[in-house]
Amino acid sequence: MHAHIRPQPGILDIALYQGGTSKIAGRDDVVKLSSNENPFGPGDMARQAYARAGHDLHRYPSTDHASLRAALGAHFGLDAGRIICGAGSDEIISFLCQAYAGPGDEVLYSQHGFLMYRISAMAAGATPVAAPEQERTADVDALLAAANKRTKLVFIANPNNPTGTMIPMEEVARLADGLPAQALLVLDGAYAEYAAGYDGGAALVDQRDNVVMTRTFSKLFGLGGLRVGWGYGPQHVIDVLNRLRGPFNLSSMQLDVAEAALGDAAHINRSLTENARMRTWLAAKLNAIGLATDASYGNFVLARFRDAAQADACNSALLADGLIVRQVGSYGLPEALRITIGDESACRRVAHVIAAFM
Ligand code: PMP
Repeated sequence: MHAHIRPQPGILDIALYQGGTSKIAGRDDVVKLSSNENPFGPGDMARQAYARAGHDLHRYPSTDHASLRAALGAHFGLDAGRIICGAGSDEIISFLCQAYAGPGDEVLYSQHGFLMYRISAMAAGATPVAAPEQERTADVDALLAAANKRTKLVFIANPNNPTGTMIPMEEVARLADGLPAQALLVLDGAYAEYAAGYDGGAALVDQRDNVVMTRTFSKLFGLGGLRVGWGYGPQHVIDVLNRLRGPFNLSSMQLDVAEAALGDAAHINRSLTENARMRTWLAAKLNAIGLATDASYGNFVLARFRDAAQADACNSALLADGLIVRQVGSYGLPEALRITIGDESACRRVAHVIAAFM
């Protein structure tokens, strides 16, 4: 191995991150509820842009993503000059780790935080550090206590994956203000659109110079397979990340389809309304069956079982019925199952199988 190759995360981590297959041999009624995808898929405008995007494939794509950034800026009310686009928010998370954390540095996140923080920190040669949580919600005091002079990045997802919980903005601001000067706070807003009234932390980004926000087209916009995400931050951070970004990190297809998706208000509204309706419905059903659920602001619910064995057995019962949900032992929650909010028929099937199992 060449000395300059940094240690890579274990293949097991990556396999766990990839989620379930959408196929179970011999069945045609399988529903995948394991990766928090939009059950309605992409909207019509994105589908049409995808069909059109086959033209001019011999041309290299835009290097500055100006059109998509302008559309994002207009849609979310942000300064387009401080937006960076990447292959999923995963790529933005990876750029942040590559740019700001290396050997000897620490990357901090909370105990049940998204797996990519650890994977990207390790890939950058930095040390991942998980701070303890309270009641499964990121605990600002614990994060502040764990931060030190080696801490370069602090990640929190709001709403959090896999719990669905939110840290109030006053707490997030307290975290931003209490961190050591060299540490950047990253607000991962992969599920931000689902939390009514939440701006993903954009206002805080504008008020501080140590806060960055990451967002994605993979969830609400139904484009997980397209791989488009973006970041918004202070100019000095965006300039650094742009130096790491390859000039053609997004294809013309990715750029065109993502931009079209932003303009599809009908699809966005339908996805939000149905998610809120079925999230309330499913949580109430699970609670009535005797399962606790964390208060979710995302497009999934976390159902808590008595113990890991019960969660495991329920997962098998769901699989036997063609329903793929996510076991979250890799997040340190072996007694829970994370269930993406599907369409109404999928939610009814899930509730039915779990009720019969209990
Ligand atoms: N952050 C969180 C909290 C997520 O759950 C996910 C997707 N599972 C991502 C980031 C990455 O999403 P993507 O790379 O598809 O934008």
